[in-house]
Amino acid sequence: SSSGSSSINFKKKPVIIIVVGMAGSGKTTLLHRLVCHTQSSNIRGYVLNLDPAVMTLPFGTNIDIRDTVRYKDVMKEFKLGPNGGILTSLNLFSTKFDEVISVIERRADQLDYVLVDTPGQIEIFTWSASGAIITEAFASTFPTVIAYVVDTPRSANPVTFMSNMLYACSILYKTRLPLLIVFNKVDVARHEFALEWMEDFEAFQAAVEIDTSYTASLTRSLSLVLDEFYKNIRSVGVSAVSGAGVQEFFEAVETSAQEFMEGYKVDL
Ligand code: GDP
Ligand code: MG
Repeated sequence: SSSGSSSINFKKKPVIIIVVGMAGSGKTTLLHRLVCHTQSSNIRGYVLNLDPAVMTLPFGTNIDIRDTVRYKDVMKEFKLGPNGGILTSLNLFSTKFDEVISVIERRADQLDYVLVDTPGQIEIFTWSASGAIITEAFASTFPTVIAYVVDTPRSANPVTFMSNMLYACSILYKTRLPLLIVFNKVDVARHEFALEWMEDFEAFQAAVEIDTSYTASLTRSLSLVLDEFYKNIRSVGVSAVSGAGVQEFFEAVETSAQEFMEGYKVDL
């Protein structure tokens, strides 16, 4: 957990990047892009897949939950549907997570980043005991950053945008780790509108009113809450497909990791 003096025990590297986001936001595609970037820039990356149900991955992994837990067998054995199967697989894997930490610790001197992909459905990781156990295990050993991937074209509606940001806010509350909002798919829709709404809540209010003529005090109150939230986070626009913004992504991760080292504390 984050105490003001947590900086003393942490080695600087590797930095753990936990990639979370709604299904279809582009987590796996972004991971692929980040892996390609590390390989072509002499950055030493280590790749961890925590999605037990993914069929094929476009990148090679160093540690893959699918090597340990067979999600289809878990479904049969425990008579579960797909979501229950994924959740139970993650639970089983989290009981051995100290071994994962040990493996990374042994290689720590040779690694710059550990890139972590999470299950497609966001709540399986962010609202489960195992997700919390895994996150806590990372953050008590290495500088850890949460990268929250947003489907930018699908967030252009102000109410959708607000819902998405409230979800991100809840993750910040829950993990108390530095959070980086990654506006993905900027090749389809640029993220300037998001930056404007984050900087100027009156611009956001105006957008809501134009969109829905909805001016209830709840919307106003929520956008004030989010105004506080935006002061605690960093954001970057990327395209996992074209590679735009990946340099800026790593710069923002470095700044966030630095905050973590300095005893980052969420103060909401
Ligand atoms: P995940 O469920 O979050 O892992 O999402 P995926 O990585 O599987 O991506 C979901 C869909 O979005 C796929 O069809 C991707 O090709 C597409 N996608 C991901 N990133 C981008 C991007 O930067 N630009 C565009 N145009 N499409 C993207
Ligand atoms: Mg995925």
